[in-house]
Amino acid sequence: MRNKVISLFSLLVLCSVFGCKGSSYSLHASPSKMPQTRTKQTYHWQKMNAKGVDWKKVKASYWKKHLSPLAFRVCRQAGTERPFTGKHLHNKKKGLFVCSSCGHVLFDAKTKFRSGTGWPSFYDVYNKKSVKLHTDTSYGMTRTEVVCGRCKAHLGHVFKDGPKPTGLRYCMNSVCLDHIPTKK
Ligand SMILES: [Zn+2]
Repeated sequence: MRNKVISLFSLLVLCSVFGCKGSSYSLHASPSKMPQTRTKQTYHWQKMNAKGVDWKKVKASYWKKHLSPLAFRVCRQAGTERPFTGKHLHNKKKGLFVCSSCGHVLFDAKTKFRSGTGWPSFYDVYNKKSVKLHTDTSYGMTRTEVVCGRCKAHLGHVFKDGPKPTGLRYCMNSVCLDHIPTKK
């Protein structure tokens, strides 16, 4: 009995030190560079990241089950959401924007700007591993497609008419982004 009480006490101490707060969640990627993040919302990719899944091997059946029909069409089939309809267009909160398919960190809210295009726009990526670029020749145009650097989700396109310091405009689909608040 005494041992059980001691074990319970140890567990409580550990929880208070490491922050066992129910549904709260911290991103644990590159802790040295990551600002402190915590969200009470639960995302499907959190469990998968905790398991250390290889996102490149995730099958279409997983995406169909865990993404909304719109997210599946845009993020997994390179669709585009209608302008001025996305949930993050007017989101001015501090934090990080991560891939809604896998939770990979894509953009810092500090680089979000008002482009007037109807889609959330950023002038820079979070780091050089955040996204990958591909040439997209669909619809008779040559554009640069932006995909998630980890799970290859289609995110949008990048154009060279953005503001300083980069001169780039990452034109993103809201449905491909989840917003994770930070204090700074
Ligand atoms: Zn992703």
